[in-house]
Amino acid sequence: MITPNLFYADLKDSYLFYNIAQKTKAYLNAHPQARLYRMGIGDVSLPLCDAVIRALHEAVDDQAVPETFHGYMPECGAPFLRDAISEYYKTRGVALSPDEVFVSSGASDELGDILDLFDRSNTSLVIEPAYPAYVDANVMGGRKIVHLASGRENGFRPAPDEGLRADILYICSPNNPTGAVFTRTQLKEWVDYANKNGSVILFDAAYEAFIEDESLPHSIFEIEGARTCAIEICSLSKTAGFTGTRLGYTIIPKELERKGMNLNAMWVRNRTTKTNGVSYIIQKGAAAVFTPEGQKQIHDNIKIYKENAACLMKVLDELGIWYCGGKNAPYIWMKCPDGMTSWEFFDHLLHEIQVVGTPGEGFGSCGEGYFRFSTFGRPEDTRIAAERIKELLKK
Ligand code: PLP
Repeated sequence: MITPNLFYADLKDSYLFYNIAQKTKAYLNAHPQARLYRMGIGDVSLPLCDAVIRALHEAVDDQAVPETFHGYMPECGAPFLRDAISEYYKTRGVALSPDEVFVSSGASDELGDILDLFDRSNTSLVIEPAYPAYVDANVMGGRKIVHLASGRENGFRPAPDEGLRADILYICSPNNPTGAVFTRTQLKEWVDYANKNGSVILFDAAYEAFIEDESLPHSIFEIEGARTCAIEICSLSKTAGFTGTRLGYTIIPKELERKGMNLNAMWVRNRTTKTNGVSYIIQKGAAAVFTPEGQKQIHDNIKIYKENAACLMKVLDELGIWYCGGKNAPYIWMKCPDGMTSWEFFDHLLHEIQVVGTPGEGFGSCGEGYFRFSTFGRPEDTRIAAERIKELLKK
C-alpha cells in the first residue's frame, strides 16, 4: 500500500483563523443584527489601480488575435517583467541581472516550493511570532525547526547568537505580525552569520513597499555580503492589491552556491520542470505596477492604508498602550491591556464593541499577551473601530 507523507501527521491544527471564524460565527448567530468591524484580515480592501486594470484589459485583447497571442510563457518569467523588476531594484541601489529574478504566482507558493532546493536534513530557523506558513511548510518537509522567540526587549528583531545552529533562516521584514523592520546593522549580523555558517537566509519582503523610513532596508540585497547567502521572496499582493490576481517574484543571486551547487541554476531547473510559467495577462498587469504611473497609483493606495494605521496608532497613543508596527508596516502589534491573554482580549473586543482582530498567541507562544490589527480594512470601518476601542479602553 502506498505510504503518504507521514510528516503531515505532525502538523498542528491550523486553529488561529479557524477559531476566529468559529467565534465570530457564534457571535453573529447569537446577535444576527450585529455589524462587525474586521481588523484581523490580511486581505486588501482597495481594488487594483487604473494602470494595472488598463494593462490587464490590453493583455486580454492581445490574446484575441494571432499577431499578439501568447501561449506558454517562459517558466522563470516573461523577459519584460524580469527586466522591470530588476530596474525597480536599481532604484534602491541593488544591481540584479534579470535572470536572477524569477516570476511566481505569489509568495506563499514560493515559500513552500523553494524548500525543494534544500535537503530534508537541514534545520530551519523561524523567528517568532511568525507568519504560520513557515513552520507548516517545514513540518510537511520533515525538517527540524528551531523556534527563536523575540520580544519587546529586542524590538521583535532578535540577533543571531554564537550557539545558534540552523541552515535555513527565515527573516520577514517588515514583519507579519509585529510590523517590526530590521535595520541595516541588524540584517548585516544575520548575513555575516549565514556566510560564516554556510546557511541560507529566506528573506520575506512581502511588505517592503510599506517602509517609509529612508534609513530602513527594503531588500536583503542592500546589505553587503547578501549575494552569497540570501534568497528574497516578494509579492505584489499587498504592494499592489494582487491577493486575488496572484503574482510574486523571487531573487536568487548567481553567486549563491552551497557544496558546489549553484542555487540559481537549480531553481531554473526546478521551475522548468515544475511550472509552465505565470499567465501572460497577469504578468502584463504586474509590469504596469513598475511603471511611473503604476508606482504613483499603488503608493496612493498604500497611503490610504497608512491613514488607517495612523488612526489606530493615535488612539493607542492616547490610551497609553504599548505597540509597535504601523509606521513602516501594515500591521499594528499591541500589548493587550490589563494583563489579558490574547484570546481574552479577542473575546472582549468582539463581545463589547464588535471589533475583530487577531490574537498574538496564534503566531507562536511568545505572541501571548499581544494582539494584531491589520490596516487593510476599509477606512470607514477602521475609523469606527478605532473610536470604539478608545471608548472601551479609556479608564
Ligand atoms: N509572506 C507574508 C509575511 C505574508 O503575510 C503573506 C500573506 O499574508 C505572504 C507571504 C503571502 O503572500 P502571497 O499573497 O503573495 O502568497
